[in-house]
Amino acid sequence: MQAVDVIIIGGGLVGLTLALALKDTGLTAAVIEGQMPDGHVPEIPDNRVSAINLASQTLLERLGAWPGQGERLGPYSEMEVWEADSFGRIHFSAQEVQQPRLGHIVENNLLQQSLLAAARASGHIRLHMPARASKMAAGEQGVFVLLEDGTPITGRLLVGADGARSSVREQLNPGLVEWDYDHAALVATINTAEPHDQTARQIFRGQEILAFLPLADAHQCSIVWSCPPERAEELTRMDDAAFNKALSHAFDLRMGLCRVLGPRQSIPLRARYSKQFCGPRWALVGDAAHTVHPLAGQGVNLGLLDAAALAETLGKTQAKGGDIGQYDQLKRFERWRKAEAATLLAAMEALKRLFGVRLPLAPVIRGLGLGITNSLPQVKRVFAEHALGTSGQLPGLCQPEKN
Ligand SMILES: Cc1cc2nc3c(=O)[nH]c(=O)nc-3n(C[C@H](O)[C@H](O)[C@H](O)COP(=O)(O)OP(=O)(O)OC[C@H]3O[C@@H](n4cnc5c(N)ncnc54)[C@H](O)[C@@H]3O)c2cc1C
Repeated sequence: MQAVDVIIIGGGLVGLTLALALKDTGLTAAVIEGQMPDGHVPEIPDNRVSAINLASQTLLERLGAWPGQGERLGPYSEMEVWEADSFGRIHFSAQEVQQPRLGHIVENNLLQQSLLAAARASGHIRLHMPARASKMAAGEQGVFVLLEDGTPITGRLLVGADGARSSVREQLNPGLVEWDYDHAALVATINTAEPHDQTARQIFRGQEILAFLPLADAHQCSIVWSCPPERAEELTRMDDAAFNKALSHAFDLRMGLCRVLGPRQSIPLRARYSKQFCGPRWALVGDAAHTVHPLAGQGVNLGLLDAAALAETLGKTQAKGGDIGQYDQLKRFERWRKAEAATLLAAMEALKRLFGVRLPLAPVIRGLGLGITNSLPQVKRVFAEHALGTSGQLPGLCQPEKN
C-alpha cells in the first residue's frame, strides 16, 4: 500500500504543475498519468502549442520547469487584432506595461517534458505512468485509488487533473454546465513569407477566427483557425496547395504567402464549467474544471493558476495542522478559481457573439469600437495586463519578485 497526501489523476500540464507546486508545503503527491510522453523533440514544431503568459512563466520558473529548449520558445511582445471588412484594429505591446514581452508560444509536449523532468527530480512526487485507475473512492477519512496493475494508493485528497473529459469529475458527478461553441479549431504549423516580428495576430472574419502565433523561427507560426465544424472538416481535407491558398487569403495576405509544414488537426470546441470545483476530499483543476474557447489563448494559463491556488490553499491548511481534505478548507480555492473561470468564460462568449453578429452595420460599429479602444492608452494598458495574466488575484507563486 502506497500512502501519500494528494493523489492526482492526470499528469498533463496542470496535474504536474500542481504536484510540483506542493514542494514547500510538506505534502507528498502521487501522479497517475495514462500516457507516456515519448520524449522526442520533433524537427517541425508540434501543432499543439500554448501562449504562456508572464504569470504562468513566473510560476514555471519558480518550480524549475520553464522549458530549457530556449531555441524552441516563441517570445511575443506585440498583439494585433483586426476584423476583415471593417477598419477596426487594435494593437498593443509589452512596452505599454514596461515589460520586455507579453508571453511565449510554447509547444505543449516540450512543456510537459520539462515539467516531468522537474517532477522526477523532486523527492515529494511519485509518478505512475503509463498507469490508470481501475477504482477511485473518496470517503470521510481518506481517499483510495487502485491502479489497473493492482497497486493500491491511499491519500487525504483526490484531485482530477484529467482534462476536459475528466473521469474523476464523471465519477464524483458535481454537475456540469456545458454548451457547444459550434466551432472546431484547426491547428497547424506553417511557414510565412513575411517575418512575424514576434507579434501574435488574430483576425475575425464572420464566423471564423484565425490566429497566427509566432514561433522561435521568424518565418514560422502556429495557427489556430476556429470555424464552424463543417468548414474545419473541409479545411482539414484540402490538399496542401488549396489549403495554403485559403489560409493566405483568410489572413488578408498580411504575412504574404503561407505554407503548411506538418499535419493539420481539427479539435471540436465546447465550453464546460463544473458546478463545483471541490467537495469533501476531492478537487478539480484545469480542463477537468473548465474549458474555454481558445480565442484568448488562456485555457492552460487558467489551469496553471488553479494548480498554484490549490497548492497554496493546501499549504496553508497543512501549516495550521488542519485536514487538507476538509471541504471547509477547500472552499477558499473554489471561490477564488470559480470566479476567475466564470469571468473568462463570459468574456470569451461575449467576444465570440460580438464578432458573430451579421447585421449590415455591425462591422462599422465594431470598427468604431476597436478604433476608439486603440486610441485610449489606459484601455490598451488593461488589455496588455490581461495578456500578461498579471491582473486579478494571483497565487503567491505567480507574483513577481518584490525588490
Ligand atoms: C486549439 C486549442 C488551442 C489552445 N491554445 C491555448 C493557448 O494558446 N493558451 C492557453 O493557455 N491554452 C490554450 N488552450 C487550452 C489548453 O490546451 C488546455 O486548457 C490545457 O491543455 C489543459 O491542460 P490540463 O492539464 O488541464 O488537461 P490535458 O492537457 O487534457 O491533460 C490531461 C491529462 O490527463 C491524462 N488523463 C486523462 N484521463 C486520464 C485517466 N483516466 N487516467 C490517467 N490519466 C488520464 C491525459 O493523458 C492528459 O495527459 C488551447 C486549446 C485548444 C483546443
